[in-house]
Amino acid sequence: MAALRMFGMRQRGGGSAPAGEERYRTEDRAMRSHRRVGAACALAAIGTVAVISVQSSASATVAIRQRVFGHQYVDAATGAVDADKVILSWFGVTNFAAAIGGHVVLLDAWIPRGEYSGYVPITHDDLIALQPSHIFLGHGHFDHAADSAPLALGSGATILGTPEHCTQARRQAMPATLSCEGVVPAGSPPGTVEDVDALDGVTITAVKHVHSAAEPPDSEDPGAPHRPSTPLPDFGAVVEHLPAPQDTAHLITHLGDAEGDTILWQFTVGDFTLLWNDSAGPLEERAPHVLDVLRALPETDVQVGAIMGFNQITNGMRDPRMYVEAISPKIYVPSHHDNWAPGVSTRGERYRPIIEEELALIPAAERPVLRFISDPQDYVRPEVLTFDVDSSYWAS
Ligand SMILES: [Zn+2]
Ligand SMILES: [Zn+2]
Repeated sequence: MAALRMFGMRQRGGGSAPAGEERYRTEDRAMRSHRRVGAACALAAIGTVAVISVQSSASATVAIRQRVFGHQYVDAATGAVDADKVILSWFGVTNFAAAIGGHVVLLDAWIPRGEYSGYVPITHDDLIALQPSHIFLGHGHFDHAADSAPLALGSGATILGTPEHCTQARRQAMPATLSCEGVVPAGSPPGTVEDVDALDGVTITAVKHVHSAAEPPDSEDPGAPHRPSTPLPDFGAVVEHLPAPQDTAHLITHLGDAEGDTILWQFTVGDFTLLWNDSAGPLEERAPHVLDVLRALPETDVQVGAIMGFNQITNGMRDPRMYVEAISPKIYVPSHHDNWAPGVSTRGERYRPIIEEELALIPAAERPVLRFISDPQDYVRPEVLTFDVDSSYWAS
């Protein structure tokens, strides 16, 4: 798209008049009028093509929204999604297409690919056709944000993240310009909290926290000593879904993308509150006051949180558990545990006993219900994460 735009500019900008220009001046009036009629026909034809294209893109939007959010919740004529639902459709790592009170957004923006292709059943074109209004970023690493710039350009969505995320996305979009808003001050410390006015009818809070990081074993933790949580890698996905060269090239291009700090997002619609954290850092050592900030947030009903992280080798699932203890959700949905980078990652199912064992350290009365999603069968499967905001369950 950017290349086409540049080509157009070069054409308009310059050089000598084409030879045809001189010939045009010598044409008689009849010939000119004939040309005008021809031009009018051509314009009409272009108009027809444009209408057809708008119609087909509108029907593409309805079709992908029905697949991503469930047929019964998407208006077949307008593509509007049921405003009384919060629906999450997982597409790998902590990336979700989400309908929140009728607003269609993305939480993080990367379709896992590069070591394989087609393991996650959704495409770049699908996510553009989905027509999200916003892309919420947790942090800027490639597995969370490598598609954010092209998806924002293709769909017109506004990226929301830190100013550092915006700087990286803008650089990746060049020479095109995209819409990105930093919702916290640049360089602000963990524990910074901001209310974000982006979606009508949805209360949104952004909290700066800490990306996962390795720490020495915490011998005082009730879960100590933690067994190293390093499930065996699974290369089956690579064998079954061989990588396309362009996907590998895309991955290599983005391997060095910067974190740009990390934000946790909370969304409230009616009686229902969703919290999404795309990393879980060692708050105990690096920013213990953030645990107080999390405890002070409005009550969360469903927390979708990353469980894979750099501290799992020495401290297991301690950090994800501490987030859960501070946030105290009714339902907990682990993520970032799927096979997004075979060799580093494995299938999510192998994390199930590890996170179950960790959550068992929380007293039963305070322990959330575990809703475990598994790859690849729960990718783009909205029925596993559809929540009715009016349900009395959230008020209990
Ligand atoms: Zn990261
Ligand atoms: Zn990650």
